[in-house]
Amino acid sequence: MTESIEQAQSTDAALRSRAKAVIPGGMYGHQNARHLPAEFPQFFVRGEGSRIWDADGNEYVDLMCSYGPIVLGHRHPRVEAAAAAQLARADCQNGPAPCIVELAELLVERVEHADWALFAKNGTDATTTCVMAARAGTGRNKVLVAEGAYHGAAPWCTPRPNGTTPEDRAHLVHYTYNDLPSVEAAIDAVGDDLAAIVVSPFKHDAGSDQELVDVEFARGLRRICDEQDAALILDDVRCGWRLAHGGSWEPIGVDPDLSAWSKAMANGYPISAVLGNDRFRTGANRLFVTGSFWFAAVAMAAAIETIRTHRDEEAVDRMERAGRLLRQGLDSQAASHGVGIRQTGPVQMPELSFEDDAGFDKARLFSATTVRHGAYVHPWHNWFLSAAHSERDIDRALQATEAGFAAVRKTFGD
Ligand SMILES: *Cc1c(COP(=O)(O)O)cnc(C)c1O
Repeated sequence: MTESIEQAQSTDAALRSRAKAVIPGGMYGHQNARHLPAEFPQFFVRGEGSRIWDADGNEYVDLMCSYGPIVLGHRHPRVEAAAAAQLARADCQNGPAPCIVELAELLVERVEHADWALFAKNGTDATTTCVMAARAGTGRNKVLVAEGAYHGAAPWCTPRPNGTTPEDRAHLVHYTYNDLPSVEAAIDAVGDDLAAIVVSPFKHDAGSDQELVDVEFARGLRRICDEQDAALILDDVRCGWRLAHGGSWEPIGVDPDLSAWSKAMANGYPISAVLGNDRFRTGANRLFVTGSFWFAAVAMAAAIETIRTHRDEEAVDRMERAGRLLRQGLDSQAASHGVGIRQTGPVQMPELSFEDDAGFDKARLFSATTVRHGAYVHPWHNWFLSAAHSERDIDRALQATEAGFAAVRKTFGD
């Protein structure tokens, strides 16, 4: 009797019930599947190229790419070989391996505004260090951030302030993305105490449509930071290596003073970086920032190979090609079902939302059905394409989304 109940339960469900006993909330953070529709698996066991497998052996075309880190495809052979070669020598030592210098030189060469590089583990480390370098460099306190923007999960920036104090955010002032007058109003409020303006390459707040940057807005931020002698900090943690080979604002010709990087820079290996120009070298020199694993060599070797492969394989072009096919396919499916949708943001970081769907009911049904049919998407977070997505993968994903649109039409009407 007990045995047949156990057999009926999926591996994912069994792991979830064990996790509930020993992990806060059963799971936490952005990978907590509890808020997603029940069709979404919580646990995964394998990834290869564009495909992933959950704990029950179901295969998916992966359109989330681990929420950003996978940019060349899971287990890219060149990156895996470089990481394995470093691991065979050493990873965590009393001092960094020589590849830390090589990685810093490579980034300074490939990223326009960068004169130096500092490495950490997570994007939050990088954005936090940028803010500290700006404060140390200017001797000022106030930092402007866009309302609703995500810059990490430290007390100064976590979107859910449970467990933080008002003092943690005492020096933050908000502006509205792409709205220069709102920045000027914020500047008036801070007087002569402005350390930095933090901005993402485009507006990619979860749960809302994406908005590309207005070039005049970006230039305006640069001008204001110059006038105020403050730092322009580009949070390239999510967009870095997806929009360009180099900084995400290089195509529009606006250089930040400091930039924060992580997610895609080592194709899934844990590393982040702060890049800065000479103006903020002294500010960075003054900081004490560190971590037990910040100097680990395997992720650095993986980052070097990821960045080289990224250019060799023209990863941005590939992602754009796959992303365009996906966008066109989704548009024509939605039209043929008479379902109103919006697709926003760059094609390689797509966001799909439904008309008249403030509660995400359509998005939940669409994504649940699409997942059940073999493509892993997300109901309210932007998706990510990788350079491993072929035309065949997109066709396969579109078979799944076709079922998703059919379900939306059936439940919500024409
Ligand atoms: C993910 C993200 C961060 C935080 O990075 P972690 O590695 O999760 O700490 C910061 N900024 C942006 C824009 C992000 O997408």
